[in-house]
Amino acid sequence: MATIFSKIASGEIPSYKVAENEDFYAFLDINPLAEGHTLVIPRKVETDYIFDLDEDTYAGLCLFARKVAAAIREAVPCKRVGVAVLGMEVPHTHIHLVPLNSESDLDFRKKKLELAPEEFERIAKSIADKYAGL
Ligand code: 5GP
Repeated sequence: MATIFSKIASGEIPSYKVAENEDFYAFLDINPLAEGHTLVIPRKVETDYIFDLDEDTYAGLCLFARKVAAAIREAVPCKRVGVAVLGMEVPHTHIHLVPLNSESDLDFRKKKLELAPEEFERIAKSIADKYAGL
């Protein structure tokens, strides 16, 4: 059975898309720690644990995440983009990219932002526009 993230990558479940290529997909986290909090996933490889990925998928995912992070940094005011891998909830490898202004921005225990659909759309578009220009 396909994971929820495979269904997002295929468009079966809607998401706020930030970037994509043939193998990888980036979209906004629905419960963001900060504006621009993005998840980066392999489209077809449903491996749960990132360090169990085959080498090509692991390397490709990291390179894709780096490019997405560059777009986030241009689109969202922040000191830098933080990286986290948890996988406590969804068993399909994903990298969290979180715009950081302070250490506490990467505290997964804190209350998540509640954004309106128009805000998600605006943020996703601003990152996607920067990604397209890289
Ligand atoms: P983790 O597995 O890394 O512990 O957490 C999963 C992350 O995926 C959480 O930050 C959660 O908000 C996000 N998430 C879970 N389901 C969905 C979904 O259906 N859509 C989106 N955009 N994000 C999701």
